[in-house]
Amino acid sequence: MRWTMPSDKVPEAWFNAAPHLAAPLDPPLHPATKKPVGPEDLAPIFPMALIAQEMATEPWIDVPGAVLDILRLWRPTPLVRARRLEEALDTPARIYYKDESVSPAGSHKPNTAVAQAYYNKQEGVARLTTETGAGQWGSALGFATALFSMECKVYMVRASFEQKPYRRVMMQTWGASVEPSPVDEPGHPGSLGSAISDAVRDAASRDDSHYSLGSVLNHVLLHQTVIGLEAKEQLQMAGEERPDVVIGCCGGGSNFGGLALPFLPDPEVRLVAVEPSSCPTLTAGRFDYDFGDTAGLTPLLSMYTLGHDFVPPPIHAGGLRYHGDSPIISSLVRHGRMQAVAYPQGKVFEAAVQFARTQGTIPAPETSHAIRAAIDEALLAKEQGRERVIVFGYSGHGLLDLQAYDDYLGGRLDDQ
Ligand SMILES: *Cc1c(COP(=O)(O)O)cnc(C)c1O
Repeated sequence: MRWTMPSDKVPEAWFNAAPHLAAPLDPPLHPATKKPVGPEDLAPIFPMALIAQEMATEPWIDVPGAVLDILRLWRPTPLVRARRLEEALDTPARIYYKDESVSPAGSHKPNTAVAQAYYNKQEGVARLTTETGAGQWGSALGFATALFSMECKVYMVRASFEQKPYRRVMMQTWGASVEPSPVDEPGHPGSLGSAISDAVRDAASRDDSHYSLGSVLNHVLLHQTVIGLEAKEQLQMAGEERPDVVIGCCGGGSNFGGLALPFLPDPEVRLVAVEPSSCPTLTAGRFDYDFGDTAGLTPLLSMYTLGHDFVPPPIHAGGLRYHGDSPIISSLVRHGRMQAVAYPQGKVFEAAVQFARTQGTIPAPETSHAIRAAIDEALLAKEQGRERVIVFGYSGHGLLDLQAYDDYLGGRLDDQ
């Protein structure tokens, strides 16, 4: 029921989606001139190696040895068949999940944090700045910078800083310093967009510092493809020729992309992104150029967006709050190669609880969006009396998100 691989099976090259897109991506635009940005525009905040990966067109990119050495602390991650969930659903479908919750930070995010810290360190950068919402990305980067003996400054959305102390403590344990954002408006609850503005401003103002982003960008999705590359191999070990459908929850797109992109070359495999109804970027956003942050400091990206000042309603507990989405995922959805669905949070937590009561582990609220969609695919297979192979991304555990579970179990998580 559980397929593991030895540590020498961590993929030694990342899968680049660029050659598999229907059309080249629209170039990012400079926030002031609105002209395509060149490497020199990005150099104040990113290392050249990552800028090159952002624009790379070769199909495979080697993973540096020092990055592999760290990934091998927890990779390859297991592929697990959710047999007890299948039985509870009484479905002919076979449901597998790729378990990224076993990483030190508890999610898929360290896969790119380690690579980003490495390339910055290589180019002599001593300090990284970033933003974080509930703290998953900040803790992943805090972990990665600790292993490369770098400094890390995390701007944390103030509402989370005040209400969710435990990931802040993780970051501080790894040696990062954490400050509530927005820094210049002490009464403001904050948003991811404004925390990005704080982190970019900091990095641009100091010679020793670069900025690091945990999702959305091409190089981030690239680093996450170790997930799908391993999963493909493990499915073979499980005796599956191919999945019928690959499902991932989608905020900025790196978790979903990491699992799904390596399946792009096989047109028989359906790829489904799942998002919250209260932040429906792919399902209800417009396809347009927009800023990555609230203040308009970042380049404009061509993507699905709800507008850079979008903030989901306060009742929303499920993460996946970003106003935009990865240009790669946006392009694939636009051209019909990927699909997107949205679920209200009541249905999402219902699925999370069903998973916990059958498989045992408690999933992150984000992850539970994918579980909801996987359960619905399995129920459809039952209705149609068809076998079906379903793979979803178990992007993280929910052990530091128990307040959201308490609210759900106590009937306080309304869908508006
Ligand atoms: C950050 C996070 C996600 C969303 O990842 P994106 O790259 O923003 O789509 C999903 N699940 C967990 C557990 C996360 O921490």
